[in-house]
Amino acid sequence: MCPHTPLCPDARDPDREAARTIISHPEQGWSLLCNGIVSFDDTGELLPDGDTIAPHRPTDLFGGRAVPAVRVVARQTPAA
Ligand SMILES: [Zn+2]
Repeated sequence: MCPHTPLCPDARDPDREAARTIISHPEQGWSLLCNGIVSFDDTGELLPDGDTIAPHRPTDLFGGRAVPAVRVVARQTPAA
């Protein structure tokens, strides 16, 4: 449940990206928003129900051409 006032937008709302960030891992390229969305640096999103939203905004401009950010793939950590 969202503790914020006003409440953060729901994960299915058009303004879902306006939800507050509750966990941020910029070194890994993702953040967890209050509404359960995992937001990636390349503007892709993972919704709480497992749906994905492809990157939908340019993250860098080089020579007037959009260049997608490099997505860092998490390494699998061996079982302890
Ligand atoms: Zn919230």
